Amino acid sequence: MKIIDLTHLLNGDIPTWNGTCGFHSEIKMDYPKGCRVQQYKMHAGVGTHMDAPSHFYKDGKHIADMPLEQLIVPGHVIDVTKRRAPDLLISPADLKAYEEKHGKIEKNSLVIGYTGWGAFWNDTTRYRNADAKGKMHFPGFSKKAAEFLLERDIAGLGIDTLSPDGSNHGFPVHELILGAGKYILENLTNLDKLPPKGALCLALPIKVDQGTEAAVRAVALLSATFPTVK
Ligand SMILES: [Zn+2]
Repeated sequence: MKIIDLTHLLNGDIPTWNGTCGFHSEIKMDYPKGCRVQQYKMHAGVGTHMDAPSHFYKDGKHIADMPLEQLIVPGHVIDVTKRRAPDLLISPADLKAYEEKHGKIEKNSLVIGYTGWGAFWNDTTRYRNADAKGKMHFPGFSKKAAEFLLERDIAGLGIDTLSPDGSNHGFPVHELILGAGKYILENLTNLDKLPPKGALCLALPIKVDQGTEAAVRAVALLSATFPTVK
């Protein structure tokens, strides 16, 4: 079994949705007098993280309500890196092309958009790619692609950008996916190490009461014998 870490390192320098510092660590007690005790102040939705339905919907499931059966699931990786562009939206045509090649997207699976945008993670300005009006431009999924994936009854949707809505107007993908009781994973990494299918993906958030978003440690398990492992 090979293990791939799909999670970015969390620190105060990483890109955030609103451009402010999303993570702060302070030492409250230290050696040699005692042990080192740290306090974290962070955005709930920072780094590689999960959005729960309650992020958008008052009566939606919180992070801690998400069943583990929905968080440990097969992964389908939609590779659109060859067409990487700031306003690229993964479309139903991309999903159909994937299915023609790799078979039908399974029920209760994690579908991951591999756009290649993660290459800019260490350059906050480029990763956020905000225009003069402050609107950010990076790849995402189209509304119709989200509808297609809900027909497949997926468990969740992931991407290697700040949002699966990319440069959509508003948040149609968030609304559809979270409105259907599914989750979203943002800022995934190491997607080049995943096969198009066959990985078992785990995205486990800390179990915060009433949490609407939470950082996750996302990993993928690959069978060493799986034929399409790169
Ligand atoms: Zn989100």
